[in-house]
Amino acid sequence: MEARGEPSYRTEQLRRWVFDRKARSFDEATTLPKELRSALGSEFSLTPLEPAHIARSRDGTVKHLWRLEDGEQIESVLIPTSDRLTLCLSSQAGCALGCVFCATGHFGFRRQLSASEIAAQYRDAARFARSEWTRAVDNVVFMGMGEPLANLEAVHGSLDVLHGGFGVGARRITISTVGLVPGILELARRPEQFGLAVSLHAPDHDLRARLMPIERRYPLPELFEAIREYARLRGRRITFEYTLIDGVNDATALAGQLALLMRGLSVFVNLIPLNPIPYVDLRPSPPERVAAFAGALRARGVETAVRTPRGRDIAAACGQLRLESE
Ligand code: SF4
Repeated sequence: MEARGEPSYRTEQLRRWVFDRKARSFDEATTLPKELRSALGSEFSLTPLEPAHIARSRDGTVKHLWRLEDGEQIESVLIPTSDRLTLCLSSQAGCALGCVFCATGHFGFRRQLSASEIAAQYRDAARFARSEWTRAVDNVVFMGMGEPLANLEAVHGSLDVLHGGFGVGARRITISTVGLVPGILELARRPEQFGLAVSLHAPDHDLRARLMPIERRYPLPELFEAIREYARLRGRRITFEYTLIDGVNDATALAGQLALLMRGLSVFVNLIPLNPIPYVDLRPSPPERVAAFAGALRARGVETAVRTPRGRDIAAACGQLRLESE
């Protein structure tokens, strides 16, 4: 605005349109003069996303499949409960890390998302939630397609926009990782208290390496050193995600090993029965094995919740809708 010789209050006007009112194009900013709007529009973009498909689950979950400018497709999921609305964002188109139970991993890596493509998922999903349900998004989780800490620059940029621009509280934003150690340490050095969730899925090196190739690059002892550093610097409880796969990683003995690994840390464990994907012969653990595993963790004093998979009827696990669409 300064370079354009505009009065200083224009900056605040624009900020309000972009962040408070979540404008998708400069044309919406009707308090700005028309010539200024078109000048801004020809020089900058607010990265409007095009919904290629909207899937609505019987349980209220809504998944957007967004088409990006170059035709790539990514997903974000709105997950309403009675007391809060959570939005799950994608950080990459595809993913290179190849976890065996993951639909996104099956495509391999397509490309990194930009900071604006990540932040735009928030803006456009929040607009949807406001117009359809008159609800605001309470929590944002980086748990959709891709590994956020493998796209560090854009993810840090999107955190700046979400937190500093849209005003989402740092404690309401969680970055979920399969365990990229340098990224965890980098996140730990930020001043904000973002939440960290780590997908563990096995407490044992060989089993984890079979499920998640990343274990070979950053094995559990190194990963836990980084997690402890994050907890020390940021003072936050760490969330662990553990997908329960029938007969693979759901023995109660593994729950004991898991509790040992986490000893001394303030943690919360989410147990998620596998959301099965096409072409992979893995099944979710049956309810009695899930209950036994949860019980074994709780008996060791570990706070544990069993999560019901949401949006099964609309293929809401990350990458599933795109897998089915392709
Ligand atoms: S679970 Fe996450 S890190 Fe693993 S393949 Fe899927 S998107 Fe990538």
